[in-house]
Amino acid sequence: MSNVLRAVRGMNDILPADSPLWRYFERTVRGWLDLYGYSEVRTPILEHTGLFKRAIGEVTDIVEKEMYTFVDELNGESLTLRPEGTASCVRAAIEHNLLFEGGKRLWYAGPMFRHERPQKGRYRQFHQVGIEALGYAGPDLDIEHLLMTARLWRLLGLADHIRLEINSLGGADARARHREKLIAYFQAHEAELDEDAKRRLHTNPLRILDTKNPAMQTLVEAAPQLMDELDDSARTHFAAVQQGLDDAGIPYRVNPRLVRGLDYYNLTVFEWVTDRLGSQGTVCAGGRYDGLVAQLGGKPAPACGYAMGVERLLVMMQEAGLTPAVPAPDVYLVNVGEAAKRFAPEVAETLRDAGLKVLLHGGGGSFKSQMKKADASGARHAIIVGDDEAAVGEVAIKPLRLAGEQQRVALTRAAELLKG
Ligand code: ATP
Ligand code: MG
Repeated sequence: MSNVLRAVRGMNDILPADSPLWRYFERTVRGWLDLYGYSEVRTPILEHTGLFKRAIGEVTDIVEKEMYTFVDELNGESLTLRPEGTASCVRAAIEHNLLFEGGKRLWYAGPMFRHERPQKGRYRQFHQVGIEALGYAGPDLDIEHLLMTARLWRLLGLADHIRLEINSLGGADARARHREKLIAYFQAHEAELDEDAKRRLHTNPLRILDTKNPAMQTLVEAAPQLMDELDDSARTHFAAVQQGLDDAGIPYRVNPRLVRGLDYYNLTVFEWVTDRLGSQGTVCAGGRYDGLVAQLGGKPAPACGYAMGVERLLVMMQEAGLTPAVPAPDVYLVNVGEAAKRFAPEVAETLRDAGLKVLLHGGGGSFKSQMKKADASGARHAIIVGDDEAAVGEVAIKPLRLAGEQQRVALTRAAELLKG
């Protein structure tokens, strides 16, 4: 048996070869969020289990089978690694009274945890960027969210590969009427239901529509539609959202089967989907959740939001050939000799004072082998320090990418020459 330690299954290391893409994505997202005036919140990765049960719903895939829940042996509390960000974000807004002076536009980003079967685009630790607008009844905010996501796909170069599907889940009355019809429909087809569906028939029949079981798709396709139950105000809201999309020239498809896997949604729901990731085709999803703030103990406040799966977007960016270059240092600092080795840190710090990125050669070795590393580093210049230079406070600058002579200068002048 091997005793090599490995990461937990479905949880990935992000290695130096991948981090430039992550950083590029994160920079783009931050800039994009600033354009829309959203503020960041950072909540703990662990929450009390009850928060997710109440927010997401007891009879959902996430709560029933995907949560990392454990008892903290030290005090007996049941804790859960967050499977999504909305519950924590709303909890924090209530706990810190963020809505006291009206609506708040918030965002968060970070790892989420779900015990799913790992495959491309589906992991047990994955990352989301999530956006929440708390305290706005819409539909203007619903439209803002769709427009802003469309802009992000353009910024990331993915606009041609992602399309929008929308639906309305109506209000509580519509869902209650629909629920009765669904139960009757599925009861009439009980023999075709899988175990999950049978169990959910009376607890949460809407979730049956969200099944990933291919054998159930035909049955689900023909099920009564929530859309048919919508009252006038829900229809008006949905029409306004569609109008907003039309005005902005954003194509979309109304998908009456779109129900989302979490219980907190009402009215507008949407998914941005791609054909490029197989059954992991949803890259961003969300909608309105007007009841959640009150459900979690806050003063009632309407809200809407969405979350995107970072890994899925990054796979798409990679496949589209959008891989940013690994950033190279400005300077690779070669140092040969005892006095040179002592002088080198001072050289490096002086150049860094001037804002230059300096890779200081570590571990000794011959001049030749150090120069090889300098070349491979991608640096524009090597700075070479030998004992002679060290003795008089000078350095030799050698261009690595452009033609040019090596020149020896006082350390005090080096930065200015390198930047010039
Ligand atoms: P799916 O139907 O693919 O399971 P979901 O409806 O469970 O997705 P949400 O809870 O809406 O997903 O999360 C928002 C986004 O987070 C998804 O659209 C997806 O891009 C991403 N996501 C969800 N679960 C995972 C996972 N296990 N691994 C990677 N990304 C995920
Ligand atoms: Mg899921």
